[in-house]
Amino acid sequence: MAKIHNLGFPRIGKHRELKRALEAYWNTDIEQQEFTKQITQVREQHYSAFDLLDYAQVGDFSLYDHVLDASFLFGNVPDRAKVDNTVENDVDAYFRIARGRAKQNDCCATHAGEMTKWFDTNYHYIVPEFSSSTTFMLNCESLISEIRTVRSRGFEVKPVVIGPLTYLYLGKAIDNSNKLELLEPLLKEYKLLLQTLAKQGVEWVQIDEPALVTELSDEWQFAYKYAFEYLNDSGVKLLLTTYFGDLAKNLKLACALPVAGVHIDAIRAPHEVEILAAKLNANQVLSVGIVDGRNIWRTDLNRALALLKPIAEIKGNNLWLAPACSLLHCPVDVTIEQNILAEIRPWLAFAEQKLEELEILKKALTNTPSNSVFEALQNNQNIIAARKASTLATNFSVQQALSQIQQSWLTRSDPYKVRINAQQALLNLPRFPTTTIGSFPQTAEIRKTRREFINGDITDVTYENALKAQIANCIQQQESLGLDVLVHGESERNDMVEYFAAFLNGALTTQFGWVQSYGSRCVKPPVIYGDISRASSMTIQWTQYAQSLTQKPVKGMLTGPVTILNWSFVRDDQARSLTTKQIALAVRDEVIELESIGTKIIQIDEAALREGLPLKKSEWQTYLNWAVDSFKLCSSSVASTTQIHTHMCYSQFNDILPDIQRMDADVITIETSRSNMKLLDAFTQFNYNNDIGPGVYDIHSQNIPTTEAIKALILTASEKVPAQQLWINPDCGLKTREWKEVIPALRNLVEAAKQLRVDH
Ligand code: GLN
Ligand code: ZN
Repeated sequence: MAKIHNLGFPRIGKHRELKRALEAYWNTDIEQQEFTKQITQVREQHYSAFDLLDYAQVGDFSLYDHVLDASFLFGNVPDRAKVDNTVENDVDAYFRIARGRAKQNDCCATHAGEMTKWFDTNYHYIVPEFSSSTTFMLNCESLISEIRTVRSRGFEVKPVVIGPLTYLYLGKAIDNSNKLELLEPLLKEYKLLLQTLAKQGVEWVQIDEPALVTELSDEWQFAYKYAFEYLNDSGVKLLLTTYFGDLAKNLKLACALPVAGVHIDAIRAPHEVEILAAKLNANQVLSVGIVDGRNIWRTDLNRALALLKPIAEIKGNNLWLAPACSLLHCPVDVTIEQNILAEIRPWLAFAEQKLEELEILKKALTNTPSNSVFEALQNNQNIIAARKASTLATNFSVQQALSQIQQSWLTRSDPYKVRINAQQALLNLPRFPTTTIGSFPQTAEIRKTRREFINGDITDVTYENALKAQIANCIQQQESLGLDVLVHGESERNDMVEYFAAFLNGALTTQFGWVQSYGSRCVKPPVIYGDISRASSMTIQWTQYAQSLTQKPVKGMLTGPVTILNWSFVRDDQARSLTTKQIALAVRDEVIELESIGTKIIQIDEAALREGLPLKKSEWQTYLNWAVDSFKLCSSSVASTTQIHTHMCYSQFNDILPDIQRMDADVITIETSRSNMKLLDAFTQFNYNNDIGPGVYDIHSQNIPTTEAIKALILTASEKVPAQQLWINPDCGLKTREWKEVIPALRNLVEAAKQLRVDH
């Protein structure tokens, strides 16, 4: 009989209990003892999801990040996190790397580990730091103790660890040394870990190697062979676990490794399941990731069974079923949602429901499934059929709008040089124009008012007036700071994607559908279930009000179609490119309306454009083509005098600059202050034409940049980009900062621009 297991479960808790416990502890609202108690309760939720499984995964729960856990497990901890007199316990040392620490009682500050996105997801991990002098030392007590706890509940455990090559792949060599030179010492600790687990009587270990779905050089391919030969015969069975894509050129390699089983993502690589089943030997387990871990749709169980049945014939007991990847990327439980349209709700499955689906599949694969299994399958079939037949997903006017798109809509009517002159004639901005990225502090007061509004405690009018007061204050502050291009401050937005989704036909937002983004931070991705169109104006009211308060230009602020797509759960019944095109048309409607009310500058943020790049480089261009086209579709139908801005967060640009240029935004603002303008080099080399606002204020830090520091950054920038192309702005939005930080920082920013104007 097939077995079922899970690769990882959301750890944030059904009601974000982990977030609450973490933040209370960090704010010193609770002591360590209480913190430990609360964490134990969150873990209990984790354990309750083991009931259906044949193997309980242990080691996927994390207080902050599972990659950081691996760094601690293998003793790769930067010196600055080592326990010292001022940090009295391991938990604090761990949080010190996760979050950094401000200067305290004469003790120096610690900078946090760098954060970056986990493959092509919106989850951020803490980047392991390597150098040629890195050493490793296994420290597995807490893993072993968790194994004991889970076993004592009567579960068969399957510890989960990140594989040695993926761990190296994810890290950064701070001295530019070759990370693979660390493989040998790292493997020694892995072997020790596996032997220790074997001594504990562990049978299976899930060893996560998602790097196998990327394109690997010969050197890395060879390293895989070497590593798994080395770990062979450690006394446990290894389940080589791959996800987020197909193995493609690494398939042969994966099959040749001496492991007891292989897991494959059958959602993204259905075409490889049969090949693997044929290639693996009879004793090897094939774990088929048959339930989507990256999306929230109910699985079509009959379709899944059609794929699984022939595999079950070949593999028999050696067929395992699992979600395609960890369920970390899904919300916990759909049954607690109260506001989802009754017709749509059955279409959705969150993490808990996905495990139930696995159980049905397992039972359906037995020789004599019970009646209740047939019923469950029938029920599932009804739901799938209802979704297919539903008129909610189809909107003929959207289909019609799509068919009416003209090629000319994708290009501005004049080239940048002509446009920028026309815009300047109208805007009359000084050299080095100053602006911000859009949001101003989301104060506790704003969040409280929004909560009251959502709970129905205050009326629409009260809420609207409260937001207007925020906008008026924001405009007044910017006026007195002397900024040149103003914003309304985005106080009405809980989130830059969720806010827009609420105005789109074909999309819904959830109440509790939280997904961990990093540490205690979560996002609530909207669900795009049907054809998208703009239901009503999205930003007009706020922009218009803000503009009525000032003579200076106020930017209209929108989130771009690619970012809305990448930060949503999207429909799985049509290409992502087509969904993006629909979103682009909706954004385009808003752009046109903003222009019609007299908005002279419109910013369309594409923070997640880069993040959507496929994991295999050979697939990049196809994505970039439709992504850039979608941006152009929403932004090009304005007069030459209307200035289009775009903004992108921590991005490397060197390898995608032709595409950035093709977007043809009049102004692009980017995050550069931490890199000391290094990111601008790519723009210089490419001879990038349009205006650029390289960030001169690191908004992720509480530090207030001095006028001198900002001037120095601008001067560095003007060595790389002609001064007349430069804008002066912070790195990103200011929503996470406080007014008392923002005011002096922006005052210095404006002052720096003023001083430099004298000489330029
Ligand atoms: N306009 C958004 C803001 O200022 C942009 C945020 C982002 O790019 N992440 O908050
Ligand atoms: Zn940003």
